[in-house]
Amino acid sequence: MKVFKFGGASVNSIERIQHIPAILHQYKHEQIIMIVSAMGKTTNALENVATEFFSGNKEKSLSLFETIKQQHKTTAQQLLQKNYNSCYNNLVDYFTEVEWLLHDKPLREFDYYYDQIVCVGELMSTCIVSNYLNEVGVENNLLDVRDILQTDNNFRDATINWEKTETNLDTITLHPQLTITQGFIGSTDQNESTTLGREGSDYSAAIFANLLHAESLTIWKDVEGVMNADPKTFSDAKLITALSYKEVIEMAYYGAQVIHPKTIKPLQNKHIPLYVKSFLNTSLAGTIISNQSEKNLPPIIVVKENQVLIHLHTKDFSFVGEEPMAVLYKIFAELNIKPNLIQTGAINVQICLDNRIDKIEQLTSAATELFNIKVEENLQLLTIRHYTKDIIEKLLNEKNIILQQQTQQTIQALYTV
Ligand code: ASP
Ligand code: MG
Repeated sequence: MKVFKFGGASVNSIERIQHIPAILHQYKHEQIIMIVSAMGKTTNALENVATEFFSGNKEKSLSLFETIKQQHKTTAQQLLQKNYNSCYNNLVDYFTEVEWLLHDKPLREFDYYYDQIVCVGELMSTCIVSNYLNEVGVENNLLDVRDILQTDNNFRDATINWEKTETNLDTITLHPQLTITQGFIGSTDQNESTTLGREGSDYSAAIFANLLHAESLTIWKDVEGVMNADPKTFSDAKLITALSYKEVIEMAYYGAQVIHPKTIKPLQNKHIPLYVKSFLNTSLAGTIISNQSEKNLPPIIVVKENQVLIHLHTKDFSFVGEEPMAVLYKIFAELNIKPNLIQTGAINVQICLDNRIDKIEQLTSAATELFNIKVEENLQLLTIRHYTKDIIEKLLNEKNIILQQQTQQTIQALYTV
């Protein structure tokens, strides 16, 4: 059995959806589980619906949702004939779930509503893709992943309950050829919808691969495979043909937008190889990620934009030592803050974070008793793994560097933009 993941870009147009049968045809003798994301930028659009609703702008949220409905309806109309009516009836069920909620007043926390609204992106896309594939003779079953993938109720960043999910999966019979289901979403034991964090479909695919002992996971993307830098910023970015799980975890940790960071563990734990391949040109080999360690990797470059550096200074001139650091780390855990870089000195600490105003305000007010705090904005964090002298020279030569850290494998530099 193989698990496939099709991201939002692979289903963002009629042509791209119509291209899926040709990809699947190459695997027609295999049993496939196919995880699909919401189409194109639907998740962003649904986020806006949730925000407007929660801010009390009911009419605005309804009208934004109306646009999303129409887009999906049109897509279904263009793709389907025989199955259009039954697909549309299903879509209407999802529309109604959301509209019913939008007509109410928000009584619970934002993250709860976010998940109830945003989850329909994946439900709508899989409904259309499954109906389309059945119509063109690629037989499949559509599975509502919320009946299988059980999570806690930490909305927007839900944690999967592996035991329950495995038990649920045992109770169903998968289609002998193709089962289609949603990435990114799950459900609590109270049947409330949850999401696993943005870009979480990769992770969903890895969960299925792990629990089903799949022979491999393939993530189909609109790029050739994993590159050593973002080709949008670095025109000389190169394909990396093989990577170890460890290297990919490191890359994702430093902010490379290749694969959701949580994807690797479920695969590594069962030695399941991960292929990253182009759905535009399936004959390209792409990248294989496995246990095998690689030699001669090119420098891998990751740029994180919109960073801030928080300077914390102990108020009474006492050393930062264990106690104040313990307090700080406790605050990070409570506020779910993930520092990108930390530098400690005798009486000061510097912390580099993504510029999330809400988090920074919370952190500042929680740490203000112990520290004097200054926030420096408009910074960029560059990480180079497997650096060479030349690449450091080339990328950092004229930068106004504020903080730099270096290990044998990795160099990180924070500079003003
Ligand atoms: N649709 C979700 C997102 O855009 C999940 C995913 O695509 O992985 O974040
Ligand atoms: Mg994606």
